Amino acid sequence: MAEQESLEFGKADFVLLDQVTMEHFMENLKLRFEMGRIYTYIGEVVVSMNPYKQTQLYGKDVIEQYQGRELYERPPHLYAVADAAYKAMKRRAKDTCIVISGESGAGKTEASKYIMQYIAAITNPSQREEVERVKNVLLKSNCVLEAFGNAKTNRNDNSSRFGKYMDINFDFKGDPTGGHINNYLLEKSRILHQQPGERNFHSFYQAGNHSSLICSSPLHPPISQLLTSDQSNFKAVADAMKVIGFSPEEINSVYKILATILHLGNVSFVTEGDAVAIENRELVSQLAELTSTQPESLLRTLLYRAVATGGGEVIEKGHSGKEANYARDACAKAIYERLFCWIVGRINTVIEVKNYDARLHGKNTVIAVLDIYGFEIFESNRAGCEPPAWGSPRELPQGRIEYFNNQIIVDLVEQPHKGIISILDEACLTGGQVTDAMFLESMNTKLGKHPHYTSRKLCATDKSMEFGRDFRIKHYAGNVTYSVEGFIDKNKDTLFQDFKRLMYNSTDPVLRDMWPEGEVSITEVTKRPLTAATLFKNSMVALVENLASKEPYYVRCIKPNDQKSPLLFDAERCRHQVEYLGLLENVRVRRAGFAYRQPYDRFLLRYKMTCEYTWPNHLMPTDQEATRALIDQHGFQDDVAYGHTKIFIRMPQTLFCLEQERAQ
Ligand code: ATP
Ligand code: MG
Repeated sequence: MAEQESLEFGKADFVLLDQVTMEHFMENLKLRFEMGRIYTYIGEVVVSMNPYKQTQLYGKDVIEQYQGRELYERPPHLYAVADAAYKAMKRRAKDTCIVISGESGAGKTEASKYIMQYIAAITNPSQREEVERVKNVLLKSNCVLEAFGNAKTNRNDNSSRFGKYMDINFDFKGDPTGGHINNYLLEKSRILHQQPGERNFHSFYQAGNHSSLICSSPLHPPISQLLTSDQSNFKAVADAMKVIGFSPEEINSVYKILATILHLGNVSFVTEGDAVAIENRELVSQLAELTSTQPESLLRTLLYRAVATGGGEVIEKGHSGKEANYARDACAKAIYERLFCWIVGRINTVIEVKNYDARLHGKNTVIAVLDIYGFEIFESNRAGCEPPAWGSPRELPQGRIEYFNNQIIVDLVEQPHKGIISILDEACLTGGQVTDAMFLESMNTKLGKHPHYTSRKLCATDKSMEFGRDFRIKHYAGNVTYSVEGFIDKNKDTLFQDFKRLMYNSTDPVLRDMWPEGEVSITEVTKRPLTAATLFKNSMVALVENLASKEPYYVRCIKPNDQKSPLLFDAERCRHQVEYLGLLENVRVRRAGFAYRQPYDRFLLRYKMTCEYTWPNHLMPTDQEATRALIDQHGFQDDVAYGHTKIFIRMPQTLFCLEQERAQ
């Protein structure tokens, strides 16, 4: 009997709940979690609970059970949604994307890896060499990106500190021929500070295993922070880099760059009268060696900056102690960020679809996988469910479904001239000494009346915010208080041009490659770089446009508790996630509409043995008529509608009954 029918495991699809209430939803979620059933559908959306333990749910044998099957034929699984996306891509030549959402530690990255493994396992039956290479690089890239972009946080031992969007390209045979990775907003401040109990990026701890890079930088991890996995992961990363095609020189440069960052953290400044000097001068030569730059130039870059005068002259201006510290930290962060982007770019060059391939095979379709923290496309009605081409339109019962339209928050943040980003950019561009407090004041004036914005100044009774520092946005998921501290600096993201030039003049080709704008001389630098917030907004707009052109599939990840325990179902925490992921609304939408669709021929192939008019073969003029006969015999006519080429079925129960009939 199909798992779906066994009540012992709860309802395999939330659409089957007796009543769509939070209580029923939570009861089912809990029951399934406790029974080890971590996946449950809402129609074609997969709700995934983090089991926090190894399970027998993956691997070759399980993959085989899902390959080429329809969603409801097997117990709910990520493999099923991967298969659905793959089939849509292959059969209908649709670009598809799998959007994985959920909070930190909910299991997004693990889910994305299982999805990629599934796709890798079911493709390239003819073992073409080039396709095998591409698959291998795609799979190995995870390990390298996690080493440099993930860190242990208090919420997750392997938390992704960047957003990741990956395209996998397929040829006309449905085999992967290439791919492309976009990374978003690496949390580079982690280089300098971590919360108590948290760590820097994994790479720094793994680097200790590389040649002689262990050093006593304050940035360098205390031994007590090392994890047993650091050493084995170092080996895995080294192997992965080799497989991907990093040359030994490149790998060496990567580790030298890590050491540079660690050494930079050791540089301290002393003020001597008006001038600033470096306390530990010996570091300068070490840094120069690591970066393949001239010690003299490096020293000057740490202490001075070039300024172009109005008359086109260039003069050197000494840093103040504060500026020197700021510049050193900005350099450390920038080097790491560029290293990360360089690694992503390097992987991309290895997997980019060759032009001649595309020309040769004409068709090139894409499955995209998005694993990005806090990202949410709030589109309740799963797209990909094409509007049915009704033979005779029928009225569908419509329950009242309430949505929160997030547009109001989007406008608050990014509306031109009025939104928070604009106010911030304006503050950053007005020259002179702008402080975070002035930025807050400006927001208070311009946004004071906005229903979703408050600050302590505007709400004198709210003691939970600090006066002159905090503001609050009422988001869909709840209130979030932000401190304006550092907003101006972070948005300006100032990095002195001298430093970029120093790096560009390095004789290390990898390092030089990362700083193309270092080529420009100081007198030519006129354009203000875009601010960090604007750059991020632009990349998000591009991402959303890209996703909108694809047929989306969704995985909603839920974290059962904050203790990383496989046993505990923290009802309050889960309920909150169900609320802000909008899952109940999702169920209501699915129930109001038609959840499943299938071409007539395929439907008959699967169920013809359940009806005397269709077994062994039907004699009717069309498959549609034969399908009608089958449905009528079972008495399901009220639950279906007939399109030109497909039957549309509202309740998964109907399919489960047919499955049961078939098994008898
Ligand atoms: P972040 O936003 O912080 O990157 P995330 O949603 O990507 O979080 P993951 O890193 O995927 O979270 O998962 C956190 C941890 O939970 C994993 O390291 C693993 O220990 C465990 N975990 C997640 N999914 C599974 C699974 N399907 N099976 C077993 N363990 C899992
Ligand atoms: Mg992650």
